[in-house]
Amino acid sequence: MNDKKKHKKRHSRNREFLVVTYSFLALFLCLSGYLCYFIAYQSSDFITSSYNKRASALSATTIRGDILAADGTVLATSSVDENEEETREYPTGELFSHVVGYYYNGRSGLEKDANYLLLDSHEDYLEQFQYTLQGKKVQGDSVVTTLDTNMQQIAYNDMGNYNAAVIAMDPETGAILCMLSKPFFDPNTLKDQWEDVVGDASSSRLINRCTQGLYAPGSTFKIVTALAYLRQGGSLDDTFSCSGSKEVNGLTFHCYNGTAHGSMDLRKAFAKSCNVTFGTIGMNLDLDDYHKTAEDLLFNQDLPVQMNVYNTSSFDVDRNTASDLVFQTAFGQGHTLVTPLHMSMIVSAIANDGVLMRPYLIDHSQNMQGVVVKEFHPEKAKTLMTTEEAAQLQELMRGVVTSGTATALNSDLYEAYGKTGTAEFNADKEEAHSWYVGYATNGSKKLAIAVIVEEADRSSSMSIPVVKDIFDYYFSY
Ligand SMILES: [Zn+2]
Repeated sequence: MNDKKKHKKRHSRNREFLVVTYSFLALFLCLSGYLCYFIAYQSSDFITSSYNKRASALSATTIRGDILAADGTVLATSSVDENEEETREYPTGELFSHVVGYYYNGRSGLEKDANYLLLDSHEDYLEQFQYTLQGKKVQGDSVVTTLDTNMQQIAYNDMGNYNAAVIAMDPETGAILCMLSKPFFDPNTLKDQWEDVVGDASSSRLINRCTQGLYAPGSTFKIVTALAYLRQGGSLDDTFSCSGSKEVNGLTFHCYNGTAHGSMDLRKAFAKSCNVTFGTIGMNLDLDDYHKTAEDLLFNQDLPVQMNVYNTSSFDVDRNTASDLVFQTAFGQGHTLVTPLHMSMIVSAIANDGVLMRPYLIDHSQNMQGVVVKEFHPEKAKTLMTTEEAAQLQELMRGVVTSGTATALNSDLYEAYGKTGTAEFNADKEEAHSWYVGYATNGSKKLAIAVIVEEADRSSSMSIPVVKDIFDYYFSY
């Protein structure tokens, strides 16, 4: 072999070597890039999804963290036996059942939404190392919620044996203080009673009625109709007249108890919840604009919330809708469906001068020593209406308390605003669902609320006592 040939061979070997090296380098960079991307963007979603190997691998090395109320009350905790077997316990039992959720046959509520935070551990590294050497699990971080134990207990006591939903939030931050859904399940015994609870279709006990319960809005929808009317040039001073009923397309619609409200302005029509006035307003609206106003208020839309599981509300009136259906829809019947969570967001935005803050339940996570690991700050979600529009709706909602259907909420401690509603769910039944949506303020803080009591009497007063008790509690400290 001459020198030239030798050189050529060496040269080609070098090339092979370089190709291999660069291929490995490229592969390495790809993998590290993906790993960085995974850690930064994907791992949280990956661990949060209910069934996957990574989450179960983490739960094999980490004791699932606690879920706490804002005052430190333990809502969910895990105990470990000598074989490192974990048992999930819920010291407050059924009180927080839907909002805290369950951890069996999948997950729900905070057990689902906070899964990643609960399986993460920020224990001291030396201790983590020690535990790992001893084959023991490390303690996962705790999740501290915005929930107020006393307020939840008030809602629980007041709702008695009714199926109901109560949700209350701070409209200036979006922090949810109370989220109660009845009937309950007991998360401590859910495993043993799973078949019974799931099989009980009539009461759908696993459904969180605040976030998943879809109801006819009843007269609470007059808030939406009023806003659409104001946006189309209507005024609070416009006058209307009511003889107690009105016929549209051969169907007769009545005001409550057939009451003739006579001549009145928009304030009084709203305070007295006059169906004839609001039905007539609806029929005279530009229906495409009416549709747009409803969608501006997040009907037919995903909700900007921290929770992953909820139902979207629906509103289907447009230019093709028959006038009798428009009439009914405008005062709250028809096909419209809404969740209590969504109604609480609409009244929160009104209370907050048009700006909706993103509702949230998880305030922060912390390690075993109480050192904050991850914090969630109040976030502006969307401007639902102008400040002027919010002020006009505030005026209408104040009239409901000073001289309308919710005078029981007059108090020296706070100024209350709201709208009552009665939602028919079966025309043949005497009972109807009783709504209250609104808020109160004492000048330094505010609380927005939405309540529905199922199959109550038709006076729509069933939902008011719990609102009063919650306001009385919140504004007394
Ligand atoms: Zn009327």
